Amino acid sequence: KAPCATPKQAEEILRSPICCIMGHVDAGKTKLLDFVRGTNVQEGEAGFITQQIGATYFPAENIRERTKELKADAKLKVPGLLVIDTSSHESFTNLRSRGSGLCDIAILVVDIMEGLKPQTIESLNLLKMRNTKFIVVLNKVDRLYGWKMCRNAPIVKALKQQSKDVQNQFNMKLIQIITQFKEQGFNTELYYKNKEMGEIFSIVPTSAVSGEGIPDLLLLLVQWTQKTMVEKLTFSNEVQVCFVLLSCLGTYLHHKEIKAAQGIKITAQGLEHAIAGTGLYVVGPDDDVEDVKEAAMEDMKSVMNRIDKTGEGVYVQASTLGSLEALLEFLKSPDVKIPVSGIGIGPVHKKDVMKASVMLEKKKEFATILAFDVKVTPEAHELSKELGVKIFIDDVIYHLFDQFKIYICNLKEEKKREAADEAVFPCVLEILRVLHNKNPIILGVDVLEGIARVGSPICILQKNFIDIGRIASIENNRKPVEIAKKGQEVSVKSALAFDVTCAFVFVQIVGSNPEEQQKIFGRHFDLKDKLVSHISRRSIDVLEAHYWDDLSPDERKLVVKLKNIFKIQ
Ligand code: GDP
Repeated sequence: KAPCATPKQAEEILRSPICCIMGHVDAGKTKLLDFVRGTNVQEGEAGFITQQIGATYFPAENIRERTKELKADAKLKVPGLLVIDTSSHESFTNLRSRGSGLCDIAILVVDIMEGLKPQTIESLNLLKMRNTKFIVVLNKVDRLYGWKMCRNAPIVKALKQQSKDVQNQFNMKLIQIITQFKEQGFNTELYYKNKEMGEIFSIVPTSAVSGEGIPDLLLLLVQWTQKTMVEKLTFSNEVQVCFVLLSCLGTYLHHKEIKAAQGIKITAQGLEHAIAGTGLYVVGPDDDVEDVKEAAMEDMKSVMNRIDKTGEGVYVQASTLGSLEALLEFLKSPDVKIPVSGIGIGPVHKKDVMKASVMLEKKKEFATILAFDVKVTPEAHELSKELGVKIFIDDVIYHLFDQFKIYICNLKEEKKREAADEAVFPCVLEILRVLHNKNPIILGVDVLEGIARVGSPICILQKNFIDIGRIASIENNRKPVEIAKKGQEVSVKSALAFDVTCAFVFVQIVGSNPEEQQKIFGRHFDLKDKLVSHISRRSIDVLEAHYWDDLSPDERKLVVKLKNIFKIQ
C-alpha cells in the first residue's frame, strides 16, 4: 500500500532494510555473519527466533556503535538491518522481487584469493534478473601474505597500516576481480572511490576473522539503502495484523503488531501445503477474499506460463517457487533453450515420475526430471528406474544443465549408432581407376560431391539405376577409413604424386544379392559413369533425424538433388 506519510515524516519512520547474503561456497558468508552477529545479537528479544529462520536483526544502536570510527552515526535513520542468511540457493526465494519484494539489497561475498567462481556468477545472474542492487564484499583480506591484523578497523585505515608489498598484492587482486566482474557485464569499484553508486557497484574489502572493513560494510549498507530506498522503506501504517510467533523454545510470543523487517515464524493450520517462495497476503476488512486469492495465484501464473505449449519438454522440480523461477529462467535463455513440460515444488514423489514418464512415448530425452535442490523419495527413485525416467539432482543450476547436456549427447550418439545402418550419406563418385572389375568391385575414385561412407548402397547413374552393391571398405592414403569426403584425395595426390596407388580413394563394393553380384565394370558400366549413393525415403528420414547437424550445406543440397533424381516424395 502507498505510504501515507509526508516525505519528511516518512524519513523518520523508515523500516529496516532487508539484506541477503550470497556468494560461492566457502567465500565466508557464514563466518561474516557470525562475526557481525557475535557481538550484536540481542538474545531474548527476537534473537532466537530470527536465528531459527535464518535471519539476523542488527539494531541501529549496534550499527552506530560499530561504525563510530567512521564518524557517520548522525546519518543513521533506519531502525536497524535485517540480514537474511541465504546460504546457498535459498537466496533465490529471498530475492524474489515481486510485489513489495523481500530483499532491498544483497551482499555478494567473493573470496579475494579466489576471485569469481561459478556460484558467484550464478548469484550475479540472479541479481541481474531480479534487478537487485548489491554490494560486493571482498572477503579474507587477512589472507594476503604478510597482512597485519587491525581488529575491526575501517578498511582504509587497515590498508594504510600494511606494507607496500601487501598493498601491491591487494591492488593486483582487486584489479583482477574488477576485470572478472566487467567480463560478466558489471562495473565495480572500491566503495570509497565510487562516485556513481547505482551505476557502479561498490566493493568493500573485509576480513571475517579479524573484522577489518566490517564497519564500512555495515555503514554502507545502511546509508545506501536509506538514501536510495526511502519510499520502499517507508512503513505503511495502515496494516496491523495479529501474528503468532513461535520461538525455538516452544513458547508462544503474541505480538499485536510487528514492525516490518523482523524475522517472524508463522504457525497456521495447513501451512505444510504452502508453497515456499509465494507471497504472503493480508486480507484487510475492506478486501475481497476472492481478489486476494487471485492475486496470490498470480505468483504461480508466471511459472505456469513457462510450460511449453507443445507439451514436450523436461519435468522440473525445485525447492521453492523462487528457485523454480530461477531454474525456468535459465532453461529459457537462448544458449540453453530446454523446453519444460511440467513443474513441481518440493521433493520428487512418485506422481512426479509418473508425469515425467509421459514423455517416454513422445521424446525419450525429455522423460527426465531436473531436480533442483530437492530430495527424491525412495519410492520415486525406484519407480524412475523401473520406467526409465532419468532424474538429475543438484543444487547448482549449471551442474544440472551440464548433467542433462551430457545425457542428451550420449543419447544422441546412441541413437546415431542405432540408426547408422539405415542412414545413407549422399555422394557422387567419379571412377578413376579399376583394380577389380567384378564382385567385389574395387575402384579408385574421386569423391565429386558429398560423403562416401562404408555401408552406403551404390548405384550407377544411367537412364535407369543399376545397383552394384554396398561400400564394404574405403582406403584413403592406404589406410582403411569409414568415410571419404569431397576434396580429400586432392591433398593425397599432390603430396604423394610419385606413388600412384596413394592417389585415389579406393572403394570396395560388394553386391548384396545375386543380381548385384553379377554387375561387371566394362560391361554394365565404365569410366564415364558416375556412382551415386542410392538413397530412399527412409534413409532420408533417418539422416534428417540423427545426422542432419553433421552435414554441410552442400551435402544437404546434394540430398535434395538426389531426392529429385530418385523421384522420392
Ligand atoms: P560460506 O560457505 O560462504 O558460508 O563460507 P564459511 O563462512 O563457511 O567460510 C569458509 C571457510 O573460510 C571457513 O574455514 C572460514 O573459517 C574461512 N573464512 C571465512 N572468512 C574468512 C576470512 O575473512 N579470513 C580467513 N582467513 N578465513 C575466512
